[in-house]
Amino acid sequence: MTATSEFWRSIPPITNVFKPDAKPEVHIANAATDDVRYYVPFSETVSSRPLWISPSENRWADVLRADKPGLVNRHYHPHEVFAYTISGKWGYLEHDWIATAGDFVFETPGESHTLVSYEHPDPMLVYFIVKGPLIWLDEKGGSTGHFDVHDYIALCREHYEKVGIGAAHVDTLFR
Ligand code: FE
Repeated sequence: MTATSEFWRSIPPITNVFKPDAKPEVHIANAATDDVRYYVPFSETVSSRPLWISPSENRWADVLRADKPGLVNRHYHPHEVFAYTISGKWGYLEHDWIATAGDFVFETPGESHTLVSYEHPDPMLVYFIVKGPLIWLDEKGGSTGHFDVHDYIALCREHYEKVGIGAAHVDTLFR
């Protein structure tokens, strides 16, 4: 079938797409896949599919997933967090809003929170852009450890090797 409404068909694409030192783009089909092998266990109840990883910026983009009520224990973010909700129901114990499909969230640098997913017919699937580190906190808000892009990479490599995707897949996400 010939599309007739695509008015831009006659426009030629740019020929010099990449600057000499630029890296190629990323296209991942079905980023929020139902193939659970792609989700790396992050806590006992929440897992993460890496989509983009920047070691130099200590930053990553992922789809966070929980198939039942879940928890990512309390932590502090020295840097910002962006989130877009694909499905399910989630929030932070520290805020009174609850996010569902279509909801956008921005967490400002310098915030501590505890992520929870609620009972819902659909899995919690949330697209996140995170800048590390996360600083794990105890009940009184004291630091108990950290998690940054390098911990994330190690976690992803180990899981992808274990499930047969192969650790090398993680490196294809580096930009
Ligand atoms: Fe967080």
